[in-house]
Amino acid sequence: MDAEEEKGSHATKLDAIMPPCPKCGRKDYWYNGVPLHGYCYGPEDKKHEEVKVLVPAPHNPYLSKEVVETMLGISRPKIEKGVTVYSRDAKKKGKTTGGGYRCQMSGCMGMRLGVKWEDGKATFPCTKGMLRRKKSWRIL
Ligand SMILES: [Zn+2]
Ligand SMILES: [Zn+2]
Repeated sequence: MDAEEEKGSHATKLDAIMPPCPKCGRKDYWYNGVPLHGYCYGPEDKKHEEVKVLVPAPHNPYLSKEVVETMLGISRPKIEKGVTVYSRDAKKKGKTTGGGYRCQMSGCMGMRLGVKWEDGKATFPCTKGMLRRKKSWRIL
C-alpha cells in the first residue's frame, strides 16, 4: 500500500483545497478534530512544531452554519472596538465600543454594535442596516 492509499482519497482531496502549510509549504496534512483541522508536522527529515489549519468552508463537514456564514462574510462580524461609524447623512460620527449583541429581530443574522456618538449618545445599530467599508461603518 503506498502512502496515498494509506491516507485515503478523501484526505488527498482535502489537501488539494487546503492552503500550504505556513511553516514548510507542503500540503500533506493529517486530518482530525471538530471542526475539522489539518495538522502538519513537517517532512520526515525536517520536522517542525505542530501547525493546525482549519479546513475551510464549505469543505469542512463540521462547521456550524454560523461559522460558515462568518467565513463567507455574511454574518456576525467580529465586534471591533474603535471603528468609526458614520450616520446615514454622514454628518455624525461615532466609534464602536466593542460591545454588542446578536440582533433579536426574527430572521435577522446581524449583530447590534454598540456605538458611542460624538454627542455622547450610545446606540446599537444592526449590521444588516450598515455598510462596512475598509475602515469604517456607514449606517444605511
Ligand atoms: Zn508543515
Ligand atoms: Zn438586525
